[in-house]
Amino acid sequence: SRPVLSVQGLKAYYRVNAYGTVREIRAVDDISLEIRRNEIYGLAGESSSGKSTLIKTVARAIRPPLQVVAGHVRFDFGTGPRDLYAMPDTELSAIRWRNLSYIMQGSMNVLNPVRKIRHAFMDFAFRHMGLGKADFLRRVREHLAHLHLPPEVLERFPHELSGGMRQRVTIALATVCRPDFVIADEPTTALDVVVQKGVLDMIRNLQRELGSSVLFVTHDMAVHANLADRLGIMYAGRLVEEAPTRALFRTPLHPYTRHLIASLPRIGDDAPRHGLEGRPPSLADPPPGCRFHPRCPLAMPICRQEVPALLAHQPEHRVACHAVAQAAAS
Ligand code: ATP
Ligand code: MG
Repeated sequence: SRPVLSVQGLKAYYRVNAYGTVREIRAVDDISLEIRRNEIYGLAGESSSGKSTLIKTVARAIRPPLQVVAGHVRFDFGTGPRDLYAMPDTELSAIRWRNLSYIMQGSMNVLNPVRKIRHAFMDFAFRHMGLGKADFLRRVREHLAHLHLPPEVLERFPHELSGGMRQRVTIALATVCRPDFVIADEPTTALDVVVQKGVLDMIRNLQRELGSSVLFVTHDMAVHANLADRLGIMYAGRLVEEAPTRALFRTPLHPYTRHLIASLPRIGDDAPRHGLEGRPPSLADPPPGCRFHPRCPLAMPICRQEVPALLAHQPEHRVACHAVAQAAAS
């Protein structure tokens, strides 16, 4: 079937003016990926690898100094692919919440601290539902109950709720219109493990019931292992590997992904984990060729010169690594 989201050759840079010269921070640098109906796609990678930048761009929630420099973001909500950045504002506001919903990093941002939760539902979701106010609030209460949230939360202020409760309210808000596509940035970070599990179960159940697609970001590989159908691994503004979650954990191919997975704690195993030498590169002045080469145990001369293409190693398993490509060819 056709993908719901198709990202092609996307470049999104922060153009920062510093002492009269423009510095470009190439946080998303030539990314292509597709997300299908009814799947949960997880995006992983260490801090500052560009995860939030990518999903802000995919949600068209960007503001200066962030700019889309090249590429396309296309959504198909059943009426054919539409270019997100070519949409007039009227069309954009028609799809927001109803088709495309975005839960940004730091869930407090969308909840106004001086307004009760009920108002957040009224402000954001009400006009997209085509219901009268009483019917709308009934629907909201049903949705909350479904997510194991008591209706009383509607009468609370954000600060009166726990972090986990607030995060679930944010997810309820983002999903009450039954969107086709949900984008969530670190939806469980900073929550304790039990609450985290509640939020993850909730996202999984919603996706199953609504048949919607979810694009979510976290740097927590354990969360990805539990939730994602497919995973994309970012390193320094690029997608370096993509595979079904199980394949990615079983046979990671990119040296960076192997490091990520090897450094996960395992029960009953106290062996010291190997750290990765060096630091991630500056995105204002990234190394040429493969951005991982200065830290890569497999680096060859070509890695310093040529950007490795993201190639299909298996039909569903793509990796951008010269060493992997050479090994497969020989
Ligand atoms: P984290 O896991 O910490 O949330 P991330 O993978 O989401 O990290 P981004 O927030 O996308 O990373 O940041 C990517 C790069 O863009 C970083 O180098 C960051 O410093 C830079 N960046 C982010 N926001 C801005 C901004 N408003 N202006 C300039 N640079 C920015
Ligand atoms: Mg982030």
